[in-house]
Amino acid sequence: MHEHFRYIVCRSRNQVAGMEKQYLKLVLVLYPFQGHINPMLQLASVLHSHGFSITICHPQFNSPDPSTHPHFEFIPLRAGFTPQNAFKSLTEFLKILNDKSRTPFMDTLVQIMGKEEQSACHVIYDGCMYFAAQVANELNLPSFVFHTFSAANLLRYLAYPHLRQEGLIPIQDSKLLEPVPDLDPLRFKDLFLVSNEDLDAWLNLLSSFCDIKSSSAMIFNTADLLEQQPLKILKEKFQVPIFSIGPIHKISPPIFSSLVEEDTSCISWLDMQTPNSVLYISLGSLNFLNDTELTEMAWGLANSKQPFLWVVPPEKLGGSRSLDSLPEGFEEAVGERSYLVKWAPQKKVLAHGAVGGFLSHCGWNSTLESIGEGVPMICRASYGDQKVNARYLSHVWRVGVELEKGLEREKIESAVRRLMRDEEGEGMRKRALDLKEMIRICVGDGGSSSESIAELVKLIMSSK
Ligand code: UDP
Repeated sequence: MHEHFRYIVCRSRNQVAGMEKQYLKLVLVLYPFQGHINPMLQLASVLHSHGFSITICHPQFNSPDPSTHPHFEFIPLRAGFTPQNAFKSLTEFLKILNDKSRTPFMDTLVQIMGKEEQSACHVIYDGCMYFAAQVANELNLPSFVFHTFSAANLLRYLAYPHLRQEGLIPIQDSKLLEPVPDLDPLRFKDLFLVSNEDLDAWLNLLSSFCDIKSSSAMIFNTADLLEQQPLKILKEKFQVPIFSIGPIHKISPPIFSSLVEEDTSCISWLDMQTPNSVLYISLGSLNFLNDTELTEMAWGLANSKQPFLWVVPPEKLGGSRSLDSLPEGFEEAVGERSYLVKWAPQKKVLAHGAVGGFLSHCGWNSTLESIGEGVPMICRASYGDQKVNARYLSHVWRVGVELEKGLEREKIESAVRRLMRDEEGEGMRKRALDLKEMIRICVGDGGSSSESIAELVKLIMSSK
């Protein structure tokens, strides 16, 4: 270790005992995409409410708005990196982002620790920003990994090397519907895989991503009662404490962390609808529909005759289309029965009594936000952890209708009917309300997630 660092670290360490929380700085490292920003800032707010001082380090794109979090310090990592640079793949993007962020993060931490009034600092990083653990380790600082996806999804990542060894990946088409050994209830088709050329690079990246050797703990935005089995397996596999502190949006004070403005006018439209009648549709911040899919979705929704609120994001949010690109005749066909926005206040929408179902890409935040309000789902998963979440929604918690590959208007219409009008959907709504109650207990006083946060705070205070 560099002598200067050693001096700072020793000074910090010696001051930890008996230290007040506000002198203990938590440096949170953000992965700058909406589905990661929301839970990280929610966690930051919870920890701030426990008295810690909060610094958010983030890359220089998709930066959160500091004015909406005046009690946090925001430090951009000047890595000379933007997603506009051309990347061959997600693997390359993540690797370069991690490689380039190392030095600016090291400089930032050294500066923070060098401040006279600073007694100690701990690092909490999004699992995608694994460089932060390596830097914290070099500076001998405690670090904690925060995974913004489910515990089941980490198990999937951990299984890949073994599946590769056994020759089970690349996946053969004939095996798509077969269960994956030791990953019940996932089938091979639920495993997201990159292209074959990219496979080795992806597996290498995953090994950095899953390597938490230097971290003191793992934090998941999940609840014990939702993921008992995956959490049990992870606790057996890892030697560090695992905290399930979610759904964190149910514990955090309300915050605004959207990268774009929310169109709140849809709430007044929802106020005029009958209870449980509206289907809410959003495919998250990074999914887009091509021309054909957009047309099929539009006609599927129109033909369903169900009232609906549809988020059609503009291109800059990853959407491929704007509201102007909807098929001709669609507006006349749906009339007052529909409301379209570019971005919705999703948590408020899902909590509205008029909303009876959610057609979703099944991002983990959307999943938690929906079941947290007792809203059953139509699952249209595309990539990443979405397929794992969809499988849990439809086959474990049984609160979701799976919309299999290919967006065709008849399939959409039929899924809407099953969820919103059939007896099958009634059963799902009942089970979703049971989940809502279960979540209320987990995040309430003495509940497992609240207790987990209290334990995490204790661990942070005692980590050296
Ligand atoms: N979201 C929102 N308004 C919208 C669509 C999405 O506020 O119109 C929020 C949503 O509440 C969630 C996040 O964006 O917190 C999306 O995260 P998720 O993990 O569901 O999906 P991702 O965008 O990461 O694929």
